[in-house]
Amino acid sequence: MGILVYVSTSNNQINKSALEAISYAAQCGDSVTAVQFGEAADQAEAGKFGADKILKVSNAKLNDFQPNLIAEALMKAAEAEGADTIVLSHDLSGKAVAPILSAKMHAGLVTGAVALPTAEGTIKKGVFSGKAYANVKINTAKKIITVTPNSIDKKEFNKTAAVADFAVEVGDSRLKVVEQKIESADLPLTEAIKVVSAGRGLKGPENWGIIEDLAKELGAATACSRPVSDMDWRPHHEHVGQTGVAIRPNLYIAIGISGAIQHLAGVNQSKVIVVINNDPEAPFFKSADYGIVGDAFEVVPKLIEKAKSMDFTS
Ligand SMILES: Cc1cc2nc3c(=O)[nH]c(=O)nc-3n(C[C@H](O)[C@H](O)[C@H](O)COP(=O)(O)OP(=O)(O)OC[C@H]3O[C@@H](n4cnc5c(N)ncnc54)[C@H](O)[C@@H]3O)c2cc1C
Repeated sequence: MGILVYVSTSNNQINKSALEAISYAAQCGDSVTAVQFGEAADQAEAGKFGADKILKVSNAKLNDFQPNLIAEALMKAAEAEGADTIVLSHDLSGKAVAPILSAKMHAGLVTGAVALPTAEGTIKKGVFSGKAYANVKINTAKKIITVTPNSIDKKEFNKTAAVADFAVEVGDSRLKVVEQKIESADLPLTEAIKVVSAGRGLKGPENWGIIEDLAKELGAATACSRPVSDMDWRPHHEHVGQTGVAIRPNLYIAIGISGAIQHLAGVNQSKVIVVINNDPEAPFFKSADYGIVGDAFEVVPKLIEKAKSMDFTS
């Protein structure tokens, strides 16, 4: 039996997290069929990271993101391909589609996998907002796995994937998309390898220039704490944490953020955490790999100057 992978795309590019899902599936050892919705993306990339076949789904009803219909199409693709496992990225779209798919297919679901299945079939996943790990096993014949972005090595297989059209019929959606707004043309936070984030310690939106400058010098995306987006200092799509976006970059720099549990829930799986705060007792220091006790308005300009003399953007 093979593995099916849901391929999410942005601006006609396969998302990095979807390529990780393909590579994850290929490392599980079975044949991999990548299911791609929407406009054609770079299909060579899918083969490079392990897809044996690409199914291009064509149906106008699937042009808008409708989780229920995407799940229906994926279920039909799994039946057509004889796949017993479906892998999705644990990003916003994967998180919306996977539970519906699990219910439709009567398939066990593991969300937020951070490692490949062991020889015994157990899968490691984050629990309690990333504070602990659990090793779980799916006992049903059909399995759904969502893979935490940036948690596994994106191994290359350099295959040439066969491309086939998949004309699938789906029902009518109970949702109607009225309007779509592209929040930012920049790299989505969940795809970013480096993130510079700031909180209420920055005092006001007029001070965000130093955060943007540091992010630019480091080739990083920008994020913020919840009060910052609630006060409209920054757009809501930058809010990270329990009620915002959960991220796992290689580097997370937190500037003027206290480190409340609800903030940590979305960032504490970052590989390296750097905290800049003028309060040595700030709780965030307990979760930091590196900490700088100091005034952000003095420390950050110095970091920008230093970063300018080095090339961090690659
Ligand atoms: C149900 C619920 C869900 C929530 N979800 C989220 C969430 O998803 N994400 C989130 O972020 N929060 C969330 N919160 C809010 C959370 O509890 C905190 O209130 C919030 O994270 C605090 O934001 P902050 O660190 O920016 O501000 P503050 O707590 O005000 O901290 C500001 C920090 O800046 C430091 N500082 C001040 N001046 C300077 C300076 N000049 N230089 C350097 N440092 C300075 C201070 O020492 C302080 O540590 C949630 C709360 C609830 C109840």
